[in-house]
Amino acid sequence: MANKPQKRKPGNNNKRGNNNNRSRQNNRGNQNYTPRNRVEYPKEITYSGPLTVGQLAELMKRNSSEIIKFLFMMGNMSTINTTLSDEDIELICMQFNVTPNKEVVIDEDDIEEQISNREFKDEDLKPRPPVVTIMGHVDHGKTTLLDTIRNTHVTSGEFGGITQHIGAYQVSLNGRKVTFLDTPGHEAFTAMRARGAQVTDIVVLIVAADDGVMPQTKESIDHARAAGVPIVVAVNKIDKPGANPERVMTELSNEGVMPEEWGGDTVFTQISARSGEGVNDLLEALLLVADMQELRANPDVLASGTVVEAKLDKGRGPVATLLVQQGTLKSGDALVVGTSYGRVRKMTNDRGMEMKKAEPSMPVEIIGLNEVPKAGDVFMVYDSYKKAAEIAQSREEKQIEKERNATSARSLEDMARMISEGDMQEVNVLIKADVQGSAEALKASIEKLDVDTVKCNVIRSTVGTITESDIMLASASNAIIYGFNIRPTAAIRKKAEEEGVEIRLHNIIYKALEELESAMKGLLAPVYEEVVTGQAEVRQTYKVSRIGTIAGCYVTDGVIKRDSHCRLIRDGIVVYTGKLGSLRRFENDVKEVTQGFECGMTIENFNDIKIGDIIEAFEDQEVKNDA
Ligand code: GDP
Repeated sequence: MANKPQKRKPGNNNKRGNNNNRSRQNNRGNQNYTPRNRVEYPKEITYSGPLTVGQLAELMKRNSSEIIKFLFMMGNMSTINTTLSDEDIELICMQFNVTPNKEVVIDEDDIEEQISNREFKDEDLKPRPPVVTIMGHVDHGKTTLLDTIRNTHVTSGEFGGITQHIGAYQVSLNGRKVTFLDTPGHEAFTAMRARGAQVTDIVVLIVAADDGVMPQTKESIDHARAAGVPIVVAVNKIDKPGANPERVMTELSNEGVMPEEWGGDTVFTQISARSGEGVNDLLEALLLVADMQELRANPDVLASGTVVEAKLDKGRGPVATLLVQQGTLKSGDALVVGTSYGRVRKMTNDRGMEMKKAEPSMPVEIIGLNEVPKAGDVFMVYDSYKKAAEIAQSREEKQIEKERNATSARSLEDMARMISEGDMQEVNVLIKADVQGSAEALKASIEKLDVDTVKCNVIRSTVGTITESDIMLASASNAIIYGFNIRPTAAIRKKAEEEGVEIRLHNIIYKALEELESAMKGLLAPVYEEVVTGQAEVRQTYKVSRIGTIAGCYVTDGVIKRDSHCRLIRDGIVVYTGKLGSLRRFENDVKEVTQGFECGMTIENFNDIKIGDIIEAFEDQEVKNDA
């Protein structure tokens, strides 16, 4: 990661937080007035954020109208307040003979960018152990090799500890260390790379001498090449009678992996992962390749690095294995990891031994984070806990925003549109129902829905009314909530609105399915939508012969209208759906009662009203169909 290329124009420097380049004052010092008092136009301008026509004009000491005119000639209408793209700015500058310099301003919470921009003086860099991943075809001996290495080359001074699987381990040879990631194969490697993390310095390509180059051998070569990581070949199982190392060399040469002794640049070793023969040679070869790569890091700064593995432990909470890539991680350090944060409460190595510090290339398991990060997330240490918390929170907010913008269908209509445009292949649904039977029936039917290539996942299906935790889960997984015979409270509706979560309420299973299916076909065309106009709380009940139960209510939300449909809700469950029978205020029939007022109500053909029930009034409103 440290060498991630940066898109930047030559001559640009990379100062953080520079926000002075838009002010006129700043350029005033360069202003030279000729005897005729004519402005000398700057030859260069420097800016950081987006610019409007007016701001660019100011920097170039031109009149906005000149730019507007130029843009007009190019076929673009603009005003002094139009925000310009970088391309526009370049074009305009070219026209007016100015060189634009865009400063890269790195956000404080963009720790990925900050880490890849960490720069150190040459004299501060110290050699660090290589980080190695073992790849190869299934059954060629990856796991055996990892076990053999770890059991025979325990880091000196650490004998006696019990081997812990933490996702990576370190061994030593002749006083030098090598770090192995112990999730073999290219899946983990690729998953990390997909997240932008490159932690592997060298790939050990293991090929069984009795089997030769196989499909996953080739894939491994491709992955190592794509990542630009050098390969060291371990021809394995040389103890076997049918072993033919020469054949492996030939086959690998055909794949472009040429042994040094044949004039290529790849180190080949011959090993028996089972007996341990040749494993030392392999480790020495790894150290040699590491030397050629000049792997170095600065151990004397605040640590940064990558998550190798993370999980939630019942007793200890979030547990993460961090690979330190720069600096030294210390017990007690405050850090941001992905979007989580915390303090290193306890740090252990792969032998379960407590560590006070971890230097570059060292994997350690830590506890003390507030949430479980993901493998491939980066981490960075801060000198204050408060700062770490702030940055993590802001990263979390940005992450949520990003996820929403990227893939989320915030409503069923959005979803239908995204599906029809081919942008969505999976629909997440959360089911809440009044009884277990309905929840199960709905779940089974939804999971069976199969429309073209769109898949529907039910991520939670429970009995009861919609809770805040449901909303948060739906929000995090872009799910739509299907409520069956239940009604959310006004507070929950509001929360759902804030989180951009859509709640669809139904009381007939096939209707819910029909709706979902048409959305999955990208053909959603709702005609009517139910609109809740208001809610009232039952505070008193009066039984009157011939009339039935009159509910003395207080309107808590919206408006209750005389001719509304209504629902009686008890503990979040719909007990009855029907029409209002009467609506009165002080003995008088009224057309409507609004929030904050008391009223008396009856429900047509229904008398089982109890204190504490909620009466919800709703109307069917036509929905405009713009499809
Ligand atoms: P992986 O799928 O690449 O992780 O392969 P494993 O490490 O699970 O090994 C597959 C099989 O090959 C196991 O039965 C090992 O015991 C065996 N094996 C691995 N290395 C050697 C070796 O050097 N010699 C022999 N004879 N068998 C080996």
